[in-house]
Amino acid sequence: MTGRISSAVVIAAIVAALGAGAVLRNPAAAQQTEIPADVWSGDRAMDDIAALLKFTPRSIGAPGHQQTIDYIESQLAKTPFSAVARQRWTFRGDDGAGHAMTNLVARLNPSNPRRVIVATHYDSIVRAYADSKDPDGPMPGANNSASGVAMLLETARALGRLPSPAVGIDMIFFDGEEGPKSLGAGDPRWFAIGSPYFTAHLSDFYPDRKPESGVDFDMVCYRALQLKPELSSVLYAGTQTVKFWSIGATNAPDVFLRTPTPYPISDDHTALTAAGIPSLLVIDFEYDPWFNTTQDTIDKCSAASLGAVGRTLLHYLYQQ
Ligand SMILES: [Zn+2]
Repeated sequence: MTGRISSAVVIAAIVAALGAGAVLRNPAAAQQTEIPADVWSGDRAMDDIAALLKFTPRSIGAPGHQQTIDYIESQLAKTPFSAVARQRWTFRGDDGAGHAMTNLVARLNPSNPRRVIVATHYDSIVRAYADSKDPDGPMPGANNSASGVAMLLETARALGRLPSPAVGIDMIFFDGEEGPKSLGAGDPRWFAIGSPYFTAHLSDFYPDRKPESGVDFDMVCYRALQLKPELSSVLYAGTQTVKFWSIGATNAPDVFLRTPTPYPISDDHTALTAAGIPSLLVIDFEYDPWFNTTQDTIDKCSAASLGAVGRTLLHYLYQQ
């Protein structure tokens, strides 16, 4: 992750339209399904992050990239999301080289015509470019990007222990979010690769009807996690964003804040929304001094932060 664009005019309009108090006043928070607290385990999600860090570097083309795919599939095999489709293609980089890309799509109750996407990216930057001491060092990426993968995997396990939600759920693990040079925000020409490819081939997975909405996770394990409604999500997926933050603020008021981010953040939700699937981004982008450095390690993460987000996601899915 990814680009940021400042726009004071847009911000002012959205904050006015949303009304800061609207997030907490939404009545959806009062209608929560009873979900046992231990069904979504932050400790298990931490175990996922620890497992993924062993594959570092996990950037495109590295052995750790394929090991990450194998790990995701091996974990999903133990859940109701066991049928995983691999969307494969070759991306031609501006270096002229062809890069093998893979999005993973895992579906719960595929015959249900109502679909909701739960997404993250699993690729990792090629080097810790933001590290002042070791900018060519390997990127551990505990928060960016292992935390999002852990979020989805533990949610898949939890859904295996619970009744089916009213909607079918499609988990998508996007490749190439960090861009053509795997440099993310350090690359001024950054753009996501995997999610636009997915939306350009949407009918392969949705021949009749688009998914109703999407929620995308990136950088969600920080031990001092603070989640603000992301500005473009508020703009283009306002109903979904208000609902998610209302549930989050009820469950974990120290984590879910009311004031939107002061700028929109581009991530994989951007392509989904552009394709007519209103999608929100859940991210704590204020992760300095560790963002995209060799210090993005598991000691910065906590089971409590992961659990606060994961349990919010479960409640959100049962309110669709
Ligand atoms: Zn990311």
